[in-house]
Amino acid sequence: MRLAGKVALITGGASGIGLATVKKFIAEGAKVAVADIDATRAQEAVDTLPEGSAVAVGVNVSVFEEVEAAVQSTVDAFGKLDVIFNNAGIAGGKPLLDHDPAVDYHPMIRVDQDGVYYGILAAGRQFKKQGTGGVIISTSSIYGEQAAELAFSYGAAKAAVISFTRSAAYELAEYGVRAVAITPGRVGTPIINQFSDELKSLFASEQLRNKMTEPEEIANVVAFLASDEANVINGTVVHVDDGYSAFKQRFD
Ligand code: NAD
Repeated sequence: MRLAGKVALITGGASGIGLATVKKFIAEGAKVAVADIDATRAQEAVDTLPEGSAVAVGVNVSVFEEVEAAVQSTVDAFGKLDVIFNNAGIAGGKPLLDHDPAVDYHPMIRVDQDGVYYGILAAGRQFKKQGTGGVIISTSSIYGEQAAELAFSYGAAKAAVISFTRSAAYELAEYGVRAVAITPGRVGTPIINQFSDELKSLFASEQLRNKMTEPEEIANVVAFLASDEANVINGTVVHVDDGYSAFKQRFD
């Protein structure tokens, strides 16, 4: 119960890494606002959780006023905010020279980059107002630190998440706020399950255990990072990629 008494807002909470984190946080004693653009699935998730432990919040993270409203809904439901997990995201991409910026760049930036900026800003203001400190955890990606095929826009957004995290840690330290980015590798969620079996098996081979990471394994790390036990992890990147970023090639 290392999150007993904590209140968290988790974006992208209706699926994948976000949903696994919602469940883990509740198991560790937190109250959680399950925030997602798919409000129906967020409510369905809440309906499976212990009564009073979670509320569903519909939010499009690419609209600042909606993110502010999600923070307010969390405070209205549970009295305060201690942790924001900026995790909502979309993936995909085309070769650069095939880009239509209106389709292949701006929409991705609005969700994966602006959405995290808005979460940091809205939660940061709430933490300052409360005077209680707080924790900001944001989901970057292995692509935030290296180039990859078909990831021109996604990689830019995920790199920005790392930069935001460093700057937020610096700017908000005086209010007792920590900021940490995580970089998942290949995680078995709907975002990745859309790909062919061949591609999924390639993805698995890129990690040292030769398999996809389970969303619950990411959630375990996020719960630790949100807890007071992680109080010296600040302004940095925690690689949750099963060695992806540490090695280049297998020969077997
Ligand atoms: P997922 O598709 O299961 O979950 C993403 C959730 O975000 C969905 O519930 C979706 O409805 C929600 N969402 C999308 N756009 C939104 C918006 N504008 N506002 C609010 N909610 C929105 O995928 P996931 O794998 O759990 O992804 C979670 C995060 O992890 C994403 O930021 C993704 O980029 C990142 N990530 C995933 C992997 C992976 O291998 N699965 C690897 C690295 C990073």
